[in-house]
Amino acid sequence: MTIPSSEGATPVMAQWFSLKDWYPDALLFFRMGDFFELFFSDAEAAANALDIALTSRGTHGGNPIPMCGVPVGTASNYLSRLIKKGFKVAVAEQTETPADRPKGQKGPLSRAVVRLITPGTLTEDELLHAGQANYIASIIPHLKNKGSTIGVAWVDISTGFFETTFIDHSKLNDLLGRINPSEILCCKDIILNDYDNRRTLIRDHHSLKTAEKELSELFNVNTFDALGNFSDEEIIASFELVHYIQKTQAGKIPQLARPQSQQYETILAIDPATRNSLDILQNSNGSQKFTLFSSVSYTVTASGARMLANWLSAPLTQIKYIKQRQEGWIYLHQNAALLDELRKILKGAPDIARALSRLSLGRGQPRDLASIRNGLEISRNIAHIFKKYEKETGRYCSIIQNTSGYLLYGEELLIKLRTALNENPPLKVEEGFIIKEGYNDELDAYRRLKDNSRQVIISLQEEYKTKFNINTLKIKHHNQLGHIIEVSNAAGSKLREHPDLILRQGTANLSRFTTVQLNELSEKILEANSLAADKEWQLFSELIEEALKEKKLPLLAKSIAMIDVLQSCATLYLSYHWCVPTLSDDTVFKLTNCRHPIVEAALRHKANFTPNSCDLSQKTKIMLLTGPNMAGKSTFLRQVALCVILAQAGLPVPAEEAEIGIVDHLFSRVGASDDLAHGRSTFMVEMTEAAAILNQAGPRSLVVIDEIGRGTSTLDGMAIAWAMLETLHNIIQCRTIFATHFHELVQSTKHLKSCKPFTMKVQEWKNSIIFQYEVIPGAAEHSWGIHVAQLAGVPLPTLKRAGQILQNLEKQYLNPQITLPLPTPCIEEKNKQETLPKKYEKIVDLIKTIDPDELTPKKSLNILYELKNLI
Ligand code: ADP
Repeated sequence: MTIPSSEGATPVMAQWFSLKDWYPDALLFFRMGDFFELFFSDAEAAANALDIALTSRGTHGGNPIPMCGVPVGTASNYLSRLIKKGFKVAVAEQTETPADRPKGQKGPLSRAVVRLITPGTLTEDELLHAGQANYIASIIPHLKNKGSTIGVAWVDISTGFFETTFIDHSKLNDLLGRINPSEILCCKDIILNDYDNRRTLIRDHHSLKTAEKELSELFNVNTFDALGNFSDEEIIASFELVHYIQKTQAGKIPQLARPQSQQYETILAIDPATRNSLDILQNSNGSQKFTLFSSVSYTVTASGARMLANWLSAPLTQIKYIKQRQEGWIYLHQNAALLDELRKILKGAPDIARALSRLSLGRGQPRDLASIRNGLEISRNIAHIFKKYEKETGRYCSIIQNTSGYLLYGEELLIKLRTALNENPPLKVEEGFIIKEGYNDELDAYRRLKDNSRQVIISLQEEYKTKFNINTLKIKHHNQLGHIIEVSNAAGSKLREHPDLILRQGTANLSRFTTVQLNELSEKILEANSLAADKEWQLFSELIEEALKEKKLPLLAKSIAMIDVLQSCATLYLSYHWCVPTLSDDTVFKLTNCRHPIVEAALRHKANFTPNSCDLSQKTKIMLLTGPNMAGKSTFLRQVALCVILAQAGLPVPAEEAEIGIVDHLFSRVGASDDLAHGRSTFMVEMTEAAAILNQAGPRSLVVIDEIGRGTSTLDGMAIAWAMLETLHNIIQCRTIFATHFHELVQSTKHLKSCKPFTMKVQEWKNSIIFQYEVIPGAAEHSWGIHVAQLAGVPLPTLKRAGQILQNLEKQYLNPQITLPLPTPCIEEKNKQETLPKKYEKIVDLIKTIDPDELTPKKSLNILYELKNLI
């Protein structure tokens, strides 16, 4: 149902209608007491998505108003589920309490939307994944409406990370695959393909002039040029993001890093199909298990995990920067004791970047300030350890020196937080006890007053017990009545006439009184409580302000993340004999005894992984790989591609030795499947991907491709595979591993001088095969398809029949002039499949006699005994 017209609405519903008007695309969480209520189609959508009861409340236009609600206390659970399902939520809070109102004023309490929560603008830990960035992107098409270049900006508001790029529209899919934004701001002309459901439609964008002016103000520079070199489209895309964030955060902007423009060529190009086939950060089920990330990450902090994920999803192409990363972890691995100490310290490091973001949006809690304080302590410890080791060993490392420079920032802030903030401050500001005793005289005085008043109440209670001669008399605090004297009705009846007592309330069992003296005291206590709370809030806010003034904190947070990633790489290098790859600007490609990091990790406790080498040097630019299914072809292909990603991300490589001439574009087509969701068959998917490779690959690319031409007739498929191999060899001339089940293609290698045949070694044993998982020169002798089918458990008669048919087909293939009749299955085989052994016949006959409706429990039991005897 859609939202009806607001005509005739009750005052509260009129308020709902006016707020909903502003946020038509979002579900409106409308605060009513302890619940957020949703109405009309919002209620229907939320009840359906959350699987909660849909009820109704009052009527509108003569019809019941559909309603559902979630308790305020647990709202974040519901919010997170809605956001994951792609909803946006506008949170409308009550902005006044009954106490704020002038006496006699009627009508609903005023409400306002304090925040629009969208998938790309989350900051709460409960709504985010600690080890994953959460980007929101914005795309601006070419301004002059010619050319196909676009400006893209993306931000993670939970950490302040901000980058931009200027690329051809055709590269957008690769970029989106890399940053995987949760939300994308753009106009309808931009084609987002698989990301279309993450689009937030922007109808008009701001002018370049406005964007430059606003961004210069935000980043505190005189002219926009001071921020770096950006295209006009990148500038507008950046401002659209800032503008949208401000809108969703009720006018606030979190601390954002200055945007960095990224040149597309500096990052290894990986298209979405390649990403999908390599399970870099996510596997095909969308989980992090059995991914490249999970098999190489030894990070111990959330920010380190995010940075490592970023390195793996955007490997570099410039040797200088890759080497810097390598130097960092090589330095750490050479100092085992340093590495050990670092890991221990880093384990306690809080997520400074996310705490800062919440504080800057006014959503920070005392624990966020404590995170800053603890982070500052830890960063200092790390800096001191580095100094100590540099002194002891006389060894330095530039990337670590540069990074550790930031670790000493914020000295004054740390001193302040140490003296002001309680060791373990509470989760919520309302709980109080954020500020240490002795930090502020005024606060201490209010707190003393509160404590003293408590003492005074206790003595007053004792005094009243004696005075009114009631031993069970108690002085209690009541939310509405303040402090009251509470006695049972039996005792209370005596007191009702007492001149000093004023009756406040009588319930079925209790009488509640007050006295002038108690009233005065209650007010004093209330005042002391509220003064202490106000003071504490003020001091807390001042501390937040101080923390936000420290502009280099984000750099310090980044340094901690970087050190965590470097220690993770060093630990990885030491753990399982990985190597430091050598990188060059030529097209060398040599991996000696390399392994598949994910398969090796999965097999670790069950079997040994067989390493393989790969040399795509001048003589063999293309490996043509044949071999049976299950022999390890796709594993080999993928491991070679993953080694490139690891090497260019600056990580160690699972090999004895690795020499890699920088790859600019990586194509991996391993394990293509149907794309039924888009109405594309296996063959169509294969051909689209083949086209992408042939149109985009260049001499510096690496292509690993598995079984092209499966989805069509044998001859079609073979012809296409053959022609593709020739194109890769003769025209593109890039480093390639081409796995195929068309053994005939091996003949082509005679005419392609840089293409050599290789096969997976297998051993035949007792009419079966044993896989050796070894890549050796040569071609596969058979397909072994029937043997693999046997391993998979295909029934023997079917296998035998397949063997007969195969023999026939092979003869015919070698001698196409003759037409051989299909061999008929022998009688014996037929009988084998159709006749049942005698004893089973009896069982079947007995079962046929049973009429379940006629059975008594006793009869059933007897039949069971009979059946058992027949076996
Ligand atoms: P293919 O692509 O030839 O059908 P796969 O590469 O899918 O074969 O490998 C099948 C299985 O064999 C893998 O899941 C893995 O368990 C095992 N395997 C593959 N390569 C190796 C290897 N080098 N060492 C050990 N086991 C391997």
